Amino acid sequence: MKQQRKKRGPWIDVTLIGSILVLGVIILFLTVLDDDFRFQQSDKTEAALLESEVTEETSAFPGIKIATDISNDPSIPFAIQYPLATSEAFNHAMTTYITSAKDDYINTMRLKLNQDKEASGELNISFETFEYDNNYYSFVLTNSTSTGDTTERSVQTFLYDYETERLVDMRTLLNGDLKSLETFAAHVRAELKKQPELKGLLVEEKLLTETDAKWRLFSNFALIDESLVLYFNEETIATKEAGIPTLTTSLSFLNPLLAPEFQIQMMNAETIVPPTPAVADKEKKHVALTFDDGPHPKVTKQILDLLEKYEAKATFFMLGSRVEYYPDLVRDVHNAGHEIGNHTWTHPVLTKLDSAKILKEFETTEQAIYNIIGEHTHIFRPPYGATNERVKNLVPRTSVNWSIDTLDWKHRNASQLLPMVKKQLHNNSIILMHDIHQSTADGLESVLKHLQAEGYAFLTVSEILQYQ
Ligand code: ZN
Repeated sequence: MKQQRKKRGPWIDVTLIGSILVLGVIILFLTVLDDDFRFQQSDKTEAALLESEVTEETSAFPGIKIATDISNDPSIPFAIQYPLATSEAFNHAMTTYITSAKDDYINTMRLKLNQDKEASGELNISFETFEYDNNYYSFVLTNSTSTGDTTERSVQTFLYDYETERLVDMRTLLNGDLKSLETFAAHVRAELKKQPELKGLLVEEKLLTETDAKWRLFSNFALIDESLVLYFNEETIATKEAGIPTLTTSLSFLNPLLAPEFQIQMMNAETIVPPTPAVADKEKKHVALTFDDGPHPKVTKQILDLLEKYEAKATFFMLGSRVEYYPDLVRDVHNAGHEIGNHTWTHPVLTKLDSAKILKEFETTEQAIYNIIGEHTHIFRPPYGATNERVKNLVPRTSVNWSIDTLDWKHRNASQLLPMVKKQLHNNSIILMHDIHQSTADGLESVLKHLQAEGYAFLTVSEILQYQ
């Protein structure tokens, strides 16, 4: 009996498995038929019905399988490879992306084939895997879709933490800190502008909107060889000719912005934000020159030339109404490396305004500056220095007044500027001047000469605040 059972065992198994398979196929067939019947109008179902073969194989990376999906329809050819992991969330994100890319292609091809039976197309999705720090895989999927005469290429990335089985996005990488994202976004924008291969191909307005400090705009990135590589798809920031621009930034440079688990051990490397001043640096003398109420077409220009001559950096607290009127000057001030601060639109006494009006003064000016230089300000100066707790709480910027008033608006006398500074001079002083009076521009050289001879370094307001 025992022997007989053993002999018959496998046959019973095979029959059982066979029946289950047949039943399964029948159920699947009925389900599909039913779906087809119900959703005859739906493109998605049609796309899903296209026959293809999906196979899975193991990869060189533990825990990662490679899925291959090849079309069986010669008029709508595609070849897709993508990674699958043990995490359901990861696989869901991956297959959602793949399905959407495939459906788009199949639907477009069906439309084309309806018009022209000879229409040809091709979809290829392949991927590369990069391992980082024995913890993370970066998957970089490259999608090339041809439908008729157009070929579109795009990149989609997934960063997977295989220890915790989680997808990592930019928000996680930067510890959810919006300030860090702002710093990073500004860096990205500035670096893209410097790339020789993008010269003449960047579309300025697109670059501004696509590198705004929003998490969703920084979703396409990979960690490759100790660096963060950002991808920008075709025509998002540049002309089609530029292809898929990338920007590589070493993780050591980004270290101060990274969440603790991504920070790396490092020595003395240059970083995206300056480290807190060293003791030796603290012993140096610093001064911050500030110019309010501009820009002014003649006076601001003359001041910029003088600052350049003395290699001095300064801060310009601008009025929104004038910013709007002289955008080129604003750009010149910014490009020369000076800091721009917000000084309201109409120069009112803010403490006498209701909250809505205060915010409007700030926001309209902020927007006008941002529209021109593509960066937000970090500092705010209330007109007349008039502020209180309510104003400070309303305006989302560090409010900075001055420690030396040159009274240049009152005496309007070039020869009085230096004596006024000398009289009150101290280390880390913030000097108030106005770049709307000719006398201020005319007296400035004597001030620059004196401060330089006294060994003062000229800092922006944001910089000098670190020393106070
Ligand atoms: Zn003012």
